[in-house]
Amino acid sequence: MSEKENKRNKTPNKKPFNFFWIYGLLGLLVVSMFVYDSADTSEKIDEAVFFDPMLKNGDVENIEVVNKEFVEVYLTEEALSKPEYEKLKNPKLNFSAKGPHYKFYIGDQADFIAKLNEAQADVAPKDRIAWKPDTRTGISGWIWLLFPLLLIGFWIYMFRRMGSGGVGGGSQIFNIGKSKARLFDENDQVNITFKDVAGLDEAKEEVMEIVDFLKHPDKYKSLGGKIPKGALLIGPPGTGKTLMAKAMAGEAKVPFFSISGSDFVEMFVGVGASRVRDLFKQAREKAPCIIFIDEIDAIGRARGTSRNLGGNDERENTLNQLLVEMDGFDGDKGVIILAATNRPEILDKALLRPGRFDRQIGIDRPDLKGRKMIFGVHTKSIKIGSDVDVEKLAAQTPGFVGADIANICNEAALLAARKGKSEINMKDFQDAIDRSIGGLEKKNKLISPDEKRIVAYHEAGHAICGWFLEHAHPLVKVTIVPRGVAALGYAQYLPKDQYLYSTEQFMDEMCMTLGGRAAEEIVFGSITTGAQNDLEKVTKLAYGMTAIYGMNPKVGNVSFNDSQGEYNFQKPYSEETAQLIDEEVRQLIDRAYNRTKELLHEHRDNLEKVALALLDKEVLFKDDMEDMIGKRPVDLKKEAAEHAARNGQLGATEDLLEEATEAEPKED
Ligand code: ADP
Ligand code: MG
Ligand code: ZN
Repeated sequence: MSEKENKRNKTPNKKPFNFFWIYGLLGLLVVSMFVYDSADTSEKIDEAVFFDPMLKNGDVENIEVVNKEFVEVYLTEEALSKPEYEKLKNPKLNFSAKGPHYKFYIGDQADFIAKLNEAQADVAPKDRIAWKPDTRTGISGWIWLLFPLLLIGFWIYMFRRMGSGGVGGGSQIFNIGKSKARLFDENDQVNITFKDVAGLDEAKEEVMEIVDFLKHPDKYKSLGGKIPKGALLIGPPGTGKTLMAKAMAGEAKVPFFSISGSDFVEMFVGVGASRVRDLFKQAREKAPCIIFIDEIDAIGRARGTSRNLGGNDERENTLNQLLVEMDGFDGDKGVIILAATNRPEILDKALLRPGRFDRQIGIDRPDLKGRKMIFGVHTKSIKIGSDVDVEKLAAQTPGFVGADIANICNEAALLAARKGKSEINMKDFQDAIDRSIGGLEKKNKLISPDEKRIVAYHEAGHAICGWFLEHAHPLVKVTIVPRGVAALGYAQYLPKDQYLYSTEQFMDEMCMTLGGRAAEEIVFGSITTGAQNDLEKVTKLAYGMTAIYGMNPKVGNVSFNDSQGEYNFQKPYSEETAQLIDEEVRQLIDRAYNRTKELLHEHRDNLEKVALALLDKEVLFKDDMEDMIGKRPVDLKKEAAEHAARNGQLGATEDLLEEATEAEPKED
């Protein structure tokens, strides 16, 4: 590396190299070329004219042969006053008295000199006009040099840009194949610990075990066990995978290389593979240590599946190199690879086989307890009022992941600050949750009274259906305050943390979702576009039941879910089956819709009550509903069972008791 290069690296570029400089330079050149050309004052003539009459008449003072290409002619003073040269004085010719006054091109210098000597053969040698050779480099000469220069400049620029952000200094051109992993060790510590990660106890334990392997390998090896090479953190986005890895780095007290899968990917062939090689080389030097590859799906996608879409050989090479490296060392060396992904299904099978990522650590959406703990962690750093009930917040946010909860806490703080409060109250959290579910409340969105009536009946329809259907989720609140761009109102339910759904539950869910449109039809005799979102949901649900969950007797116990991405946009079933599925889906939705209408007819008076109350109050909570139309039949049944169990009556089994007390998050 040259000294200049070194110097540049020592002083970090304050101003990044600006590509406009090159444009500027180019522009300047073009301009100067024009200037140069117009500075050419001499008039072009034919070679013949030079010999006769100019030379013959003795009008020539001297000549210059430039670049063996052309001749510049200087006239004598007397000649200049001759009438035939008079036009030289024409100012338009930009004539300068000094000359050169004329120029002409010659084929070959030697030829020309011979001709010149011949023409002056009878002139005395001392009177012969002198000629002198000259070499000049015009701009047009070295303009051709400029293009390669520009190209080189462009390359350097591109290399710099692509190589930027890497570890270590050095010219980035030479570092392009170096790994971009960030190393955390005793000099550069992460200050996130397991305390910052709420819940996820099992995952923490597994991760800690891995650290323990690294620190005390002999304990495990003495029993003949092999130390695992890698572990894969799998879970939906925002559940804390990256956070967990950071905490591991903070706790492990061993060097920790952190890199993202996309960091391997580069425009150039072979770069990814060479980065993998470099990463493992560095890791081996630092062993025992941990390598963490975040979002590994960027390189770990199954090979060959995208072949017909142009393929990405570079990515495959990178993956192959990763597989090779993982095979190339054994756990005894003390390098453990941790990776995270939220799409394990698309990962290459070769990555997942034992011997590579032999452990898979699932990180699930947090349950009620987990959410409570996450709220606990994130409310620690903000100022909350005494009325904030973390338990209640957790109950209201089923399905939320850690990232959502972190966002809600921040949002609540912002809302409180906007109102100029000194602490954050429950109301702010409630608003933040509403906001994250339904978008920003639009208090001043103008809705005509007619529309408001329709929305009220629509939402009341949802609420009534949910109320009387056995398997529907319990209602939290129903509102007709418009939110976001699309939602004119919504009913919020409290889904259980549940993994298995039965046909009955799906049916009830479908009826509840159709409740809005059914209510519109029953009350107004006409339907609106307000149900679009509901219909979309219902359609998805119905197709799911028929084609994915095998819940349709005619279609049978088949599932056409393309979880492996193998079907490549082709339907794995025949045209007839497609027709059958479509037919069955239609019938299913029709059945659900009729059932919904029946239900609403049956509870027409309650529908009216709820809709009017909504028009009046805009928001109804569960308690308001109970006051108006009595408790939910399901709740009454549960209470009866509970009562029976408490009195030790026959038929009240343990299970019933458990169901009554535990299945649903408490609500008041
Ligand atoms: P991902 O699983 O997509 O990598 P992250 O680890 O990046 O998710 O999580 C995003 C953010 O969500 C974290 O920075 C943190 O604030 C919050 N978070 C997620 N899970 C938890 C958790 N279990 N405890 C505390 N905070 C969490
Ligand atoms: Mg992540
Ligand atoms: Zn609706």
